[in-house]
Amino acid sequence: MDYKKLLNCQLECQCGQSHHIPIEDFCYAEDSLQKIPQLAKNKNAHKISVMADKRTFEICAKDVICELSQNKHNVQDIIIPDTNGEEPQCDDITCNLLKEQISQNQPQLLIAVGSGTINDLCKWAAFEMNLPYLVVATAASMNGYASANVGAKVNGVKVIIRARPPLAVLAKPAIIENAPAEMTAAGFADTIAKFQSTADWVINNLLFDEYFCHYCANILEGLQVHYLKQPQKLRQGDKEAIKALFEALFLTGAAMTMIGTSAPASGGEHLLSHTLDMTANIDNQGHWLHGLQVGLGTIVSAELYQMIGEIDKPKLHDMPDNIDQKYWREDLLIKTVDRQYKGKKEYLPQIKEKISNQAVFEQIQQIASQRSKAPGQIKDWLRKAGAAVSYKELGCSRQRLKRAMLHMHEMRSRFTVVDLAWLVGILPNAADYIIDKWLTD
Ligand SMILES: [Zn+2]
Ligand SMILES: [Zn+2]
Repeated sequence: MDYKKLLNCQLECQCGQSHHIPIEDFCYAEDSLQKIPQLAKNKNAHKISVMADKRTFEICAKDVICELSQNKHNVQDIIIPDTNGEEPQCDDITCNLLKEQISQNQPQLLIAVGSGTINDLCKWAAFEMNLPYLVVATAASMNGYASANVGAKVNGVKVIIRARPPLAVLAKPAIIENAPAEMTAAGFADTIAKFQSTADWVINNLLFDEYFCHYCANILEGLQVHYLKQPQKLRQGDKEAIKALFEALFLTGAAMTMIGTSAPASGGEHLLSHTLDMTANIDNQGHWLHGLQVGLGTIVSAELYQMIGEIDKPKLHDMPDNIDQKYWREDLLIKTVDRQYKGKKEYLPQIKEKISNQAVFEQIQQIASQRSKAPGQIKDWLRKAGAAVSYKELGCSRQRLKRAMLHMHEMRSRFTVVDLAWLVGILPNAADYIIDKWLTD
């Protein structure tokens, strides 16, 4: 589709909202870096800070710096430090550190060179310091480039922070194609998650009258024919397939910016990933790529929807009264998760009453059959694209995965398929079944 027409213009939508994506440029081309000096000039930015980690500095940031220096810009680099010997984390500690360095440089523009974490850190710091930023992407690994959201850990808790999208998203195909294959696979998994997140979104619209935009949902649906054509081609490094994926990632992020929430691209399938991230430190585990974790969550969501679709008449159950403090362990985690869960508990009686109406339940089943994909289909796509489809491939133990599955409903107040599965009695009992059937090999 012609995505350029969506950029930087005002769109009066039938949903009643006026949509605006304040991104001036999107460019996926070998000469995309040449656009940076002009973009800087448009913002009257002479002094520029380029943020990268030591890997993306070598891969691309030094070329960005060269391009700017040649055009007489005053440019400094900021190398984001690794966390505990691993790639940087997007957390409050790192963000504060970066803000200090930025204050010393006093730039008029920030440029992120990297993928998920670097983009998020730069977006966050730019927002807090009221500076414009643009991103030069180095992998097709997640859909956050064009979104206004930052997925961060604050006091150890995974939160979504509302910031501002970049003024441009640029990428050189040669760099994106040469990124580690698992990063591309992760981006694919994060993209197909939206079948499930859209199902959650429509159900929230039905049950809570949550805002829903058909135009935006249609944009996302229209992308499928391009990036879903042959997932195995991503694994083979096919140029056209990777380009289609990168555009889909860009537009999914832009859709979140349009709507103003993460609803179009993040639902119950994301909770497994967030829960694994939040407990990584206390479990003494590393972080796996967001998209790869989301891939497993997407299979789980698809199976839960399938099981909901098979129920004749739902027998409603109560969800646990409280969060499991022994699982979250750390005081701050317990406090934040508890607040989220209490928020959810408040509206559950009203939801139970609605779902007990057979007509409403059948409407939910209809949404599930229209929007959600079959778990086998999701798994097949993921496997073809080279993404993880089992806890072993992710590097996670069965026990840790199961515990995350049984606690992921506690961490967000928003209603998802996971809560629905608890209310109709599918969870907690089906956790072992789902892991054995879908996530073991
Ligand atoms: Zn995601
Ligand atoms: Zn709309």
